[in-house]
Amino acid sequence: MHEMGLCEAIVQAAVKRADGRRVHGARVRVGGHPVDPEVIDQGFRLAAAGTVVEGAELDLVLEPLSVRCRGCGTEAPASDATALTACSRCGAVDIEVTGRDDVVLESITVDAPGQDRYPDKDPERQQGDQREDDRPLGGRS
Ligand SMILES: [Zn+2]
Repeated sequence: MHEMGLCEAIVQAAVKRADGRRVHGARVRVGGHPVDPEVIDQGFRLAAAGTVVEGAELDLVLEPLSVRCRGCGTEAPASDATALTACSRCGAVDIEVTGRDDVVLESITVDAPGQDRYPDKDPERQQGDQREDDRPLGGRS
């Protein structure tokens, strides 16, 4: 399926950009493709399973194509098939389709050192929990 390949490409791009960090969210812009956001979302989750992107929120931004009439200059989003064949204002068929047909990973949200995302997980408050390697070595006897 086209959508699955698309989702795998998105996940791969996110994994690459994350560089080993855990990804919490990914913002993706889809231009041109008439995609079903739910299908993309599901495919994204499947493709992300087992990677650092697993469980990340997908923020999908859809940018449909737009058409411009060479006759009257009207520009309109190509929301349906009719809009792609004739100008919605004057009915002329001399129109051009604009907009980019591409998929772009705009940004990702990751665990970054120094980011105060999880104040409750401050190492100082976790002493004696799971941070054994932080204990001073001389303190044991
Ligand atoms: Zn027109």
